[in-house]
Amino acid sequence: MNPNVLQTPIEYLKGVGPNRGELLRKELGIHTYQDLLNLFPHRYIDKTRFYKISELQRNNADVQIVGKIIHLKTVEQKKGKRLVATFIDDTGKMQLVWFRGQKWIRENIKINEPYVIFGRVNYYNGFSMPHPEMELLSTYEKKLRTAMQPVYPSTEKLSTRGITNKTTSNIIQQLFIETKGQFLDTLSSTILDDLKLISKSEALFNIHFPKSQELLAKSQFRLKFEELFYIQLQLISKNMLRKRKIKGYPFNQVGSYFSQFYQEHLPFELTNAQKRVIKEIRTDLGSNAQMNRLLQGDVGSGKTIVALMTMLLAIDNGFQACLMAPTEILATQHFHGLVELLIDMPITIQLLTGSTKTSKRKEIHADLQNGQLHILIGTHAVLEDKVQFLNLGLAIIDEQHRFGVAQRSKLWHKNEQPPHILVMTATPIPRTLAMSLYGDLDISVIDELPPGRKSVKTVHRYDSNRLKVFQFIRDEIKLGRQIYVVYPLIQESEKMDYKDLMDGYESIVREFPMPEYQISIVHGQMKPADKDYEMNRFVKGETQIMVATTVIEVGVNVPNASVMIIESAERFGLSQLHQLRGRVGRGAEQSYCILMTSHKLSNDSKTRLETMVRTNDGFEIAEVDLKLRGPGDIMGTQQSGVLNLKIADIVKDNDILKLARQFAIKLLKDDPTLSKEANRIIRFTYSQLAKYKNIWNYIS
Ligand code: ADP
Ligand code: MG
Repeated sequence: MNPNVLQTPIEYLKGVGPNRGELLRKELGIHTYQDLLNLFPHRYIDKTRFYKISELQRNNADVQIVGKIIHLKTVEQKKGKRLVATFIDDTGKMQLVWFRGQKWIRENIKINEPYVIFGRVNYYNGFSMPHPEMELLSTYEKKLRTAMQPVYPSTEKLSTRGITNKTTSNIIQQLFIETKGQFLDTLSSTILDDLKLISKSEALFNIHFPKSQELLAKSQFRLKFEELFYIQLQLISKNMLRKRKIKGYPFNQVGSYFSQFYQEHLPFELTNAQKRVIKEIRTDLGSNAQMNRLLQGDVGSGKTIVALMTMLLAIDNGFQACLMAPTEILATQHFHGLVELLIDMPITIQLLTGSTKTSKRKEIHADLQNGQLHILIGTHAVLEDKVQFLNLGLAIIDEQHRFGVAQRSKLWHKNEQPPHILVMTATPIPRTLAMSLYGDLDISVIDELPPGRKSVKTVHRYDSNRLKVFQFIRDEIKLGRQIYVVYPLIQESEKMDYKDLMDGYESIVREFPMPEYQISIVHGQMKPADKDYEMNRFVKGETQIMVATTVIEVGVNVPNASVMIIESAERFGLSQLHQLRGRVGRGAEQSYCILMTSHKLSNDSKTRLETMVRTNDGFEIAEVDLKLRGPGDIMGTQQSGVLNLKIADIVKDNDILKLARQFAIKLLKDDPTLSKEANRIIRFTYSQLAKYKNIWNYIS
């Protein structure tokens, strides 16, 4: 079949026409035959036959099974309980689960009587079916049966305008008639053979009109693999291409600055993880390619020192370096911290932020251009066109999730050839997601905290326990510790949030009066100079309590602070809570994080709080976050395009993703330009994808 047929506009399909065509375009983004073919059912209802428990597949289909309940029990959960039935047939057993209506089920269900159950099967340590439809076999046998039915994505508008699930299924059937259901394969025969995949035509047919559960599972696997494979292929080949095309400034020597610092100034022994990461970075910098590396490390894992040592390598090789941070407070703290670390070393370093005075600014601009300034630390101000370097060799971005792609790409143009780029993040991105999102970046991970850290003890307290919490604060202050109290300020401009903060501040001032207690307050509506002043009082230990909004979320380092109290903790996202908690536990003392909430909590909030109490592991937290929010949300809209997957699910299809990546790497190693005859199909498909679907240009 001529592949161009699939590019035919959808209204030409018999049974569609201009009106329906318009609707399909608007509501589902279906423009062509191809798009319609790729409109995959998100589930299936199968009442064609009965399944045996031993035949169940992990394909999310709805199935019906005949069997009986032999046992019924109530299981206490952290919140509420669930009713669990053990359901058997002659081939095995599974569980039926109810979260609602347990009383009714308990009273009405018959033990050891044959039932027909129907519902979606889940798999987690065995099969289970939540809230099945149930009917006694004797009743069921009097009824009619229907065929296996795909359920397509739809919208309210589509159904009110008469495009029902049945209609969709019919026009897809028409598409198969017109094309005779013959589609070119999109994977090479090597891959098809290696993985025993079914052909494209067979997969497409069975995804829309499954002949059996088994063929459906095979079709899903084949199509998911293909989808993930081409994404990985693109990411990896882009990365390879970038390395070949974009020359990097070679940093060939480990010179005197690096060595001097390492031998005389390094205030502690590096952790093994830090050493490993520095080695990885040095390898990048020594090659002729430009480094484009993501450094992940949980809060407090010691990324700053890695950044500094990388900057020293740049200076050793005659280049300048800059470090950009998302907030003024953080940039300022980096600046002071680095100045201290570099004391007595002949290295020049300056701070540039929105509040740098014009005269100072001019001096910095001049010194950057004549090369007298080695290191520039700053906020977004660094990106301004006026900021020109003599020879920028390395740009480091701290807490990259705060910066957009456009800002990052600006850094690429601060020198004739792009400088090496290191982006650092304390928001751990689960590996699965990192692989799909940042496949074009190399990734380093600091997975070890400096020695002697005690993990932060986290508890959840209701507002009604506030007095006890106040007493705890007093006790800790008596021990010489400092306390953070943080309020949510989702939007710096929101009046309500601001009021909460001020009310809270006042009640704390009342509870902790001067002169015995000194309190700092920092929020987004203050002038930067005032913020710095207040922050510094806390850093120096002049105040014992810091009342703040989330402006302190990233990076700030006050080792003596040992208690983090988060007010209205239910309003924060998981990664934000984890970031905030990371502000304490930086010194040798036992630290605490207290999550304050009202009694009214949504299920998601409960999960978030429980997760925080259970673990300190940023990666584990990120996994839960990913499950709660879905990948698109986590990375923000900017990068979610790539996650707009048609059939695969980045979280659930982790195994297939890994497999796809493995195959893509193997293929590109063997045939980087995809020019071998055996890979003709892959090259053709790849170019079609690039042509018809503009898959993201990530950094240019
Ligand atoms: P983050 O990764 O969150 O940016 P920092 O770089 O701010 O972490 O480091 C947190 C704290 O740990 C700092 O006080 C830093 O001096 C200290 N630190 C970093 N590396 C080590 C180490 N290898 N041994 C002891 N302390 C370290
Ligand atoms: Mg940091």
